[in-house]
Amino acid sequence: MTDTELLGIGFTSRRTRDRLVRRLADAGIVDQRVLDAIAETPRHIFVDEALAHRAYEDTALPIGHGQTISQPYVVARMTQALIEHGIPERVLEIGTGCGYQTAILARLIPRVYSVERIAPLLERARERLRRLRVTNVQLKHADGTLGWPHKGPFGGILAAAAPRSVPEGLLEQLAEGGHLIIPVGSPAGSGDTQELLRLRRSPTGYERERLEQVRFVPLLSGTTP
Ligand code: SAH
Repeated sequence: MTDTELLGIGFTSRRTRDRLVRRLADAGIVDQRVLDAIAETPRHIFVDEALAHRAYEDTALPIGHGQTISQPYVVARMTQALIEHGIPERVLEIGTGCGYQTAILARLIPRVYSVERIAPLLERARERLRRLRVTNVQLKHADGTLGWPHKGPFGGILAAAAPRSVPEGLLEQLAEGGHLIIPVGSPAGSGDTQELLRLRRSPTGYERERLEQVRFVPLLSGTTP
């Protein structure tokens, strides 16, 4: 990737990105740190060249293997919910996908851990993050339902795929006072939407807060080579 590609020209330019940021602000994203991270992160390098001209629309786009890059609004909303009560030192992301959300987190969180169950997606994400010179992220090919036990506990966990109910392992790996941001419910294909939840670990249990209705790909168990 050349510097020009990273910088972006025309439909991938900083001005195009700023338009997306204004749209997110209008949609209710109030955290300037999140808006700045989105303004500074080129989204077009995370999608296929053929889709690059749509990278700054506020929509999910296909990234292969039946998966999608999350809608910018949803990335912003989840990130805002994650850091609203303070920046966690360590965050675990479930579902690296193309690595876009990972790149946003890496701008805000000192140490980011991200797991993906589809090996080729993870390898492409690794390559993109390297080109962006992101160095505070560790990636792993694994089933994120189980979290990343040896790296926990985490001050924050963010899941980019939806289980039917919150996985026990993720709750266990949450530090006290930490937040888990996760969509929960029936698979998107069933016509139902899922609920985006924020769970906070307190000394005595978990506090649960509903954020909004969302549509995510399902959280599947196991890995694919
Ligand atoms: N934030 C990502 C979203 C990708 S879609 C992006 O913007 O690109 C969700 C991802 O979660 C998919 O890549 C899917 O393969 C992955 N996923 C689903 N179940 C998983 C699991 N159990 N462990 C790890 N990753 C999982």
